[in-house]
Amino acid sequence: MTKTTLLDYHNSRRKRDAQADVAPLEDGYWRRKTLTEMNEREWEALCDRCSKCCVISIEDADTGTLYLTDVSCKLFDAKSCGCSNYENRKQYVHDCVKLTPKNVPKLDWLPQTCAYRLVSEGKDLFWWHPLISGDSETVHIAQASVRNKTRPEGRLKMAGLIKRITQWPVPLEKPPKALRNRKRSGT
Ligand code: SF4
Ligand code: SF4
Repeated sequence: MTKTTLLDYHNSRRKRDAQADVAPLEDGYWRRKTLTEMNEREWEALCDRCSKCCVISIEDADTGTLYLTDVSCKLFDAKSCGCSNYENRKQYVHDCVKLTPKNVPKLDWLPQTCAYRLVSEGKDLFWWHPLISGDSETVHIAQASVRNKTRPEGRLKMAGLIKRITQWPVPLEKPPKALRNRKRSGT
């Protein structure tokens, strides 16, 4: 069984709050608010764009064990680490799942590092999250993303997918020295 997911930013049923949409994000809001309490902007900003949820995983129906592959959904663009046809994705990928505050706790295939999963489990975000680092590149520097590390689904059948089962690297626990030095010197 393969699984994919998406964040449905543009078709969310969440009420938009014009004021919240333009107000700066409150520092550390994810530590104080539940997923349900977040406004649309806060919800969107919570995604670190790791795109591990755009990679196909295989579940053993007998044991429930989940195996990760390095094969991406057919719409995934490995270079930009994002969906290549976000607006129309449902036409092409019917099983792309929309994340909601209600389903996040039930989606056991979301990566352990997924920001939505972390918040739903009452945990803090990792150092690389752009909301912490202030830098959208740190998710890649930390090796927490799948940028440039996947191959497209193409015509792969289950046997081919099984051959692509892989262990994704454990993300760096702290920023590399060069990044820490750069921060200190303000560059
Ligand atoms: S933070 Fe979660 S929802 Fe966002 S790209 Fe990563 S795994 Fe997907
Ligand atoms: S359709 Fe787009 S958002 Fe959904 S899993 Fe595929 S690449 Fe990701």
